[in-house]
Amino acid sequence: MEKRPFAELGVSAEILKAVGKLGYEEASPIQTAVIPAAMKGRDVVGQSATGSGKTAAFAIPAIEMVKPQLRKVQCLILCPTRELAVQVAEETGKLLLFKRGVHVVPIYGGQSYDRQFRALAAGVQIVIGTPGRVMDHMERGTLKLDALRLVVLDEADRMLDMGFRDDIERILSAVPEGRQLLFFSATIPKAIQELIGRYSRDPEWIRIESHAQNAPQVDQVYYEVDRRSKLEVLTRLIDLNDFRYGLIFCSTKVMVDELDEHLHARGYATDRLHGDLSQMQRDRVMEKFRRRSFEFLVATDVAARGLDVDDLEVVFNFDLPNDAEDYTHRIGRTARAGKSGRAITFVSGRELYKLQSMIRFANLRIRRERVPSLDQVEEARANVFFEKLRGVLDSGRFERHDRMIDRLLDQGYASTDICSALIQLLKGGDGPAKAPAPGPEPARAEGLPESAAEPSLVRAEPAPPPAARTGREAGMTTLFLNAGRKHLVTTAEIVGKVTGVTRLPAGVLGAIDIHQRHALVDVAAEHADMVIAKLTGIRLRGHALKVSLATTEERARE
Ligand code: ADP
Ligand code: MG
Repeated sequence: MEKRPFAELGVSAEILKAVGKLGYEEASPIQTAVIPAAMKGRDVVGQSATGSGKTAAFAIPAIEMVKPQLRKVQCLILCPTRELAVQVAEETGKLLLFKRGVHVVPIYGGQSYDRQFRALAAGVQIVIGTPGRVMDHMERGTLKLDALRLVVLDEADRMLDMGFRDDIERILSAVPEGRQLLFFSATIPKAIQELIGRYSRDPEWIRIESHAQNAPQVDQVYYEVDRRSKLEVLTRLIDLNDFRYGLIFCSTKVMVDELDEHLHARGYATDRLHGDLSQMQRDRVMEKFRRRSFEFLVATDVAARGLDVDDLEVVFNFDLPNDAEDYTHRIGRTARAGKSGRAITFVSGRELYKLQSMIRFANLRIRRERVPSLDQVEEARANVFFEKLRGVLDSGRFERHDRMIDRLLDQGYASTDICSALIQLLKGGDGPAKAPAPGPEPARAEGLPESAAEPSLVRAEPAPPPAARTGREAGMTTLFLNAGRKHLVTTAEIVGKVTGVTRLPAGVLGAIDIHQRHALVDVAAEHADMVIAKLTGIRLRGHALKVSLATTEERARE
């Protein structure tokens, strides 16, 4: 099933810019096949599953064929429902963003005629509507079709199911001779075949089959998640299941960048993979991922295509894949070599229908689960912590601190209280941390005691902390952080946070002085503003950071 870059489909620079802005990395199979055929002027019958990108497959040729200087309706797109008409109009609007003088309007039942009349009178060139309302406007004379050159029937089978056959036939017989006709339908029942036979001229039939296969050994669940809560739910699920090695799919490059940064800021060791990276950068990221230098790879479908890794614990579909085939492709990364794996899919809003149709279409076995509550996450974290603690106790591998403990006991503290206080300190207000596991696995940045944490735990690149120095160097600016020894902050953590969140190399940092309640951090002057902006509000040891330029007074207090 072929997919090609949009640039190879002969579309204009404006469209390329728009699809880039939408974050589409390449054309889907139906788009790859339909766009060039439609732009040549051929009639097309396109058949593919829900979610395979049919809208852009006809919207792009529609936009390209419009003559902007001609202020008449040149393209008519018929959809079964008002929701679909609005949706298609929205997507078309995004795709023509950079085309000057091309306008689109949805017309549908329920909206005032007046408003639609004004839009039509203003000279829009692309009209998207339900058959009933389009008929109405034609009869009233408010929709003139004398300049019409392209008609699109989206979800033709559904339109017939909904009883629009007469309206459709009347519309098709009223449009000028020689217009181009594009038919889209998930199925081609007899009635559709008749319509095609009567109104199409030698159409090109394009049928994209889905070769999705089930992956029975993968445990597949989906969660209905509000778009804004996805990040929160993702981190909950990671913590709850103690996942440490997985792939997270997003639909666009922009989303990949954002999610990578957000996870990073929350202390997960992540990296990203998408089409904007050079081949060399991609190879490096993949190599590091294979070596498990970080925990989660955030990627687009395209970028992850060549990725060959074993033993992934989990694949997250942070964004729903386009079709069932992409879905099975994605989740096939887990559960290799007969092992069982997990696939977790998020759907929000309307995506639920898309997922359900994918499940039906490709017979997927995905069950619904409820988003875990914070309490459940806390409990799971506590269990992990408990097991780790017991593990250390049982192994007998720990240094003794009898003198300190004796002193506390002498002062009358109960041993249970001493332990509770220590646990409290370890939790750092953000819940107990995952102690680093033996072996090459990376550890979490948040809330680890200094002795247990490696300095390089935030970024995959080891960034050894610079030795504390006195005296300020030229070209350095001193920043004031509202966290210090009291908050158990360490030099390594500050370096980790700064390099992790800003992605600057550790070399831009100078002296770091940690005081009781604050820290002074030297940073190359040209990066100071960025460091302040990016670090402010980030949590360090469960403590919300405030960062500002240090005053002379603060600097003198060292
Ligand atoms: P269909 O009409 O076939 O059911 P849609 O046109 O509604 O599918 O597209 C489904 C989703 O896929 C939409 O959210 C759309 O924005 C997205 N999409 C379409 N084309 C691409 C592409 N080339 N790359 C990434 N996402 C795409
Ligand atoms: Mg559609």
